[in-house]
Amino acid sequence: MELKAYSIFWVSFFIFLKLVQSKIGNQMLKTVKIEISGRVQGVGFRPYIYTLSQKINVNGTVSNNENGVIIYLTGSDKNIQLFYTELIQFPPPVSQIKESKIEEISFQDFHNFQIVPSIKRGKLNLSLTPDFAICETCKEEIADSNNRRFYYPFTTCVNCGPRWAVTKTFPFERENTSLQSFKMCDSCYEEYTDPSNRRFHSQTNSCQNCGITISLHKSDGSQINIPLYEIFKEVAALIKKGKIIAIKNTGGYLLCCDANNKEIIKKLRKSKKRPRKPFAVLYPSLPLLELHLSLNKQQRKALKSTERPIVILQKKDFKGDLAFAELIPGLNQIGIMLPYSGILQLLAEELKISIVATSGNLHGSPIISNNEQAEKILSGIADYFMHHDLEITNPQDDSVVKFSAKYQQEVLYRRSRGYAPNYFNFKDKTNEKIMAMGGGLKSTIAFLPNDHLYISQYLGNLEHYDVYERFVKITNYFTELFEEKPSVILIDKHPGYQSTQYGKEISKKWQTDLISIQHHKAHFAAILGEHHLFNCKEKVLGVIWDGTGYGDDKNIWGGEFFTFHKNEIDRLTHFAYFDWLAGDKMSKEPRLSLFSLADDEVENHIVGKFSKNEIAIYKSIKKKNKLKTSSVGRLFDAVASLLGICDINTYEGEAAILLENQITNYDLNKCKNYHESFIDGVIDTKSILKNIFSDYKSSVDKQEIIQSFLYTLTLLIFKIARQNNIQKIAMSGGVFQNTVLMDMLKELSGKEFKLFFNHNLAPNDENISFGQLMYYLHFIDFSNK
Ligand SMILES: [Zn+2]
Ligand SMILES: [Zn+2]
Repeated sequence: MELKAYSIFWVSFFIFLKLVQSKIGNQMLKTVKIEISGRVQGVGFRPYIYTLSQKINVNGTVSNNENGVIIYLTGSDKNIQLFYTELIQFPPPVSQIKESKIEEISFQDFHNFQIVPSIKRGKLNLSLTPDFAICETCKEEIADSNNRRFYYPFTTCVNCGPRWAVTKTFPFERENTSLQSFKMCDSCYEEYTDPSNRRFHSQTNSCQNCGITISLHKSDGSQINIPLYEIFKEVAALIKKGKIIAIKNTGGYLLCCDANNKEIIKKLRKSKKRPRKPFAVLYPSLPLLELHLSLNKQQRKALKSTERPIVILQKKDFKGDLAFAELIPGLNQIGIMLPYSGILQLLAEELKISIVATSGNLHGSPIISNNEQAEKILSGIADYFMHHDLEITNPQDDSVVKFSAKYQQEVLYRRSRGYAPNYFNFKDKTNEKIMAMGGGLKSTIAFLPNDHLYISQYLGNLEHYDVYERFVKITNYFTELFEEKPSVILIDKHPGYQSTQYGKEISKKWQTDLISIQHHKAHFAAILGEHHLFNCKEKVLGVIWDGTGYGDDKNIWGGEFFTFHKNEIDRLTHFAYFDWLAGDKMSKEPRLSLFSLADDEVENHIVGKFSKNEIAIYKSIKKKNKLKTSSVGRLFDAVASLLGICDINTYEGEAAILLENQITNYDLNKCKNYHESFIDGVIDTKSILKNIFSDYKSSVDKQEIIQSFLYTLTLLIFKIARQNNIQKIAMSGGVFQNTVLMDMLKELSGKEFKLFFNHNLAPNDENISFGQLMYYLHFIDFSNK
């Protein structure tokens, strides 16, 4: 009896205690919903969240959705705070959080933490994930003979590997990528499902038992049957023997050969129909590169970054062996990159020498990514093919950056692999779905279907049919991927651009508004947009200099000064018009720009650059010509031709690049101003050339003339800014790829001026699509609101 009472007492007490505990517990526990947007898919976000939940002792779920990542969390107030703070402060290394939201919701009693399947309820509204360079851990694994991924070139993890290159649709799950055709083996699946594994939920996970197969072929297509690890040894041996290999990499084919074999580089140039355009070089490792060239902090950082672009470096004091005369004819700079994929890494390990790694295409065509096409088009160039059976859904060229010599100002020359297709710095809000078709030469497409802005990778010159085809394909792909058709289409004013014509075509088909925007105003809007200057109270001077663009007066603009003030852009002044001769030929033949700007004296001096027949023709054209230009790009051409640097371009921008390459530095004490006067408020272009000629005739050193020419342009910008009492100067257009000019501007601006250059986008026509979009949002859409 006593015992019974005793038991009852304890059982009741126990129940009472439990009740109190759970009451207190439930009061302390709460549930929140966390929503994260930005670059959060395909970057190891969910596995990271899982691990964090275990560390901090909270329960709930995480999943991808069309807006990013969504987390339900139950835990104590303190733990939830801890979780959220850590998540925001230390997110996974390759992710980028754009926005995050946390809100308390009704209590849910989760018993553990789980990654739950993605549920797509609405249209996609998130940043897409670009390709990432191979990480250090994966690099170690493929080099380790005890690792099961030894020599497996497609080794990836949550922090590295191709993403945009294999994306079919979103959310970023395996079945939405071209990896879908490879079923994970048991070992891979174990890694994929093990929360403690670094490949937990890694969508591109594979190994040589279940993954992508690489194979070596002769130029006639016949396969050479050797095991995987021997393929890389064999390819390295073939390259050292002087063969050209077409290698299918993660973004498309690369044509590779020994970078110190003069004859083979000449052969590659000939068959690729690329006589002088510089070739980029792949270095096997950073330590070897640093033995040959001294790098500064920024260059090293860019070379090692997850974007891993080609970095243009000065070849001064180079200590290695490279066939410079064949690689970079006439230049003092060379584009260098480090292995960014397992394929290139394994090859580099075997090679230990640097190789040419140039886009696998014919002159002007887009990079090839399909096996059959590669054999069809490149068989006349490559001696061997290294194929693999992973489909590349978004082929991309390598991106290119350069840092100026004096102030290390970064310029993006080509924005593609590693950067595309996101544009992160976008803050505008609108309900319209806008598609901007860009320019003609360095084509890109910008699309705003939701809260995010997407800018395609660099596509190339739309005059090439293959580039145009890819352009059309991306337009359609964007609309399918986001399940949105544009409501507005933006085009350049140039009626002849393929992008303009295609924009008109789809605008009709999809019944959208169609708006044309002047080329240089788009450039100006691009730079204003990059630096969020639209709300700026002060006047901003826009200096927009490039090769060509269709002007409001139907002339060819390119030497423009604009002002931005109170939501308006005005053309302030420009370089005085000179004759645009012989249509497209003018951009290709710098000697024609010189001829156009020449007075009688200069003309007499340069007749030797033309045949008698040509002179007669161009003189008669000049007399009756009506088409005029203000292009600073053409002024650069004229100077390059006058100084005997380049009369006929073999690639776009050659004269301007060669001109810049004549100098590696400048001495302001030796510079003089070639500009004298304004005529009717515009800059006297011809007198600048006349003064340069006068120095040239007096045998002034060529390098001094070039420095003075850039100095003249710099002074002109500041003079016009002062005349108009403007302190903020925004510059865009292809001319601002000239890093010596950028440095001079920075040095001479002192504290008086604030300068803005393109930073997230290339200053050239790659930024036109973004500029059109910005122009529309701030100057057209704005007035309707
Ligand atoms: Zn990795
Ligand atoms: Zn496997």
